[in-house]
Amino acid sequence: MAQSGRVRLRFGALLLALLVGISTRCAEARVIVEYPPTVSVGSPFIIRITAESPITSAEAVWQGRTIPLDLRNWNGMQVAAGLFGTQVGKVAPHEHGMRVRIVSPRGKKERMLAIRVLPKKYVEDRLSLPEHMVTPPSSVLNRIKGERVLTASALSTVTGKRMWDLPIERPVPGIVTSPYGRRRILNGQPRTHHGGMDFRAATGTPVRAAFAGKVILTGDHYYAGKSIYVDSGGRVISHYFHLDAIDVQRGDILSAGQVIGRSGMSGRATGPHLHFGVAIGGQMVNPEPLFSATVQSMLDKRAVVTIPVTAP
Ligand SMILES: [Zn+2]
Repeated sequence: MAQSGRVRLRFGALLLALLVGISTRCAEARVIVEYPPTVSVGSPFIIRITAESPITSAEAVWQGRTIPLDLRNWNGMQVAAGLFGTQVGKVAPHEHGMRVRIVSPRGKKERMLAIRVLPKKYVEDRLSLPEHMVTPPSSVLNRIKGERVLTASALSTVTGKRMWDLPIERPVPGIVTSPYGRRRILNGQPRTHHGGMDFRAATGTPVRAAFAGKVILTGDHYYAGKSIYVDSGGRVISHYFHLDAIDVQRGDILSAGQVIGRSGMSGRATGPHLHFGVAIGGQMVNPEPLFSATVQSMLDKRAVVTIPVTAP
């Protein structure tokens, strides 16, 4: 009797310990957020969230724009990676906050991440051009205005499903003739920083999609010439300018590396080249690092915060 009572007591204690253990583990279910504590102005960066217990949705607010994070199942957890960036000349170099929002069956949780944007020097060129090449004639101002509305609307497309992957494909094999961030001083007037990168490309060179995604806009615009805009989800939108020919149409789903057109010098271009630009959450970023980076390598220097999600 005494023996069996002790066994029962031991069994009871074990059960209790197990239950306590389980409930403690539940109370500690976390969302782990990895992010870079410092970024250079103009450079794209990654944040990654890992949820140990099921969550419903995740998003991040950066520079006034909400970026949805696409949750994928991985090893019994949910993982999402988001691409972010800052645009040189638009975002001041100092500490900025990124708000991360997690919705789980137990409610909503928010955490503010401190990300320090560091200054970076970009090249300046002084050029003198005939005035009519610097200032567009008044007859095209309405056309330019209309095209700005179209491109602004394309750049504000929000798709939750992540179609982008890293590293991205090179759109043409040629060398870079003008990097991102270069600033022209035309006839003494400082212009905006170069929002993309220019590749050497003879007219007719096949242009490949750097990102998988969906064609959201094509057109023949005053400045950009024949151009293609591609949405890759998570507010990652890339574009290809000054094309000679466009081989895709709005609504087409592209895989990375697919030929989408031929390069040229349409629009306001002084010679044949490809201008390739990447907007992330409305910020034109430097595409260059994306040609060699992986999600993991972009998180080499990271800070980690955890958000408990089980506790109400
Ligand atoms: Zn360019």
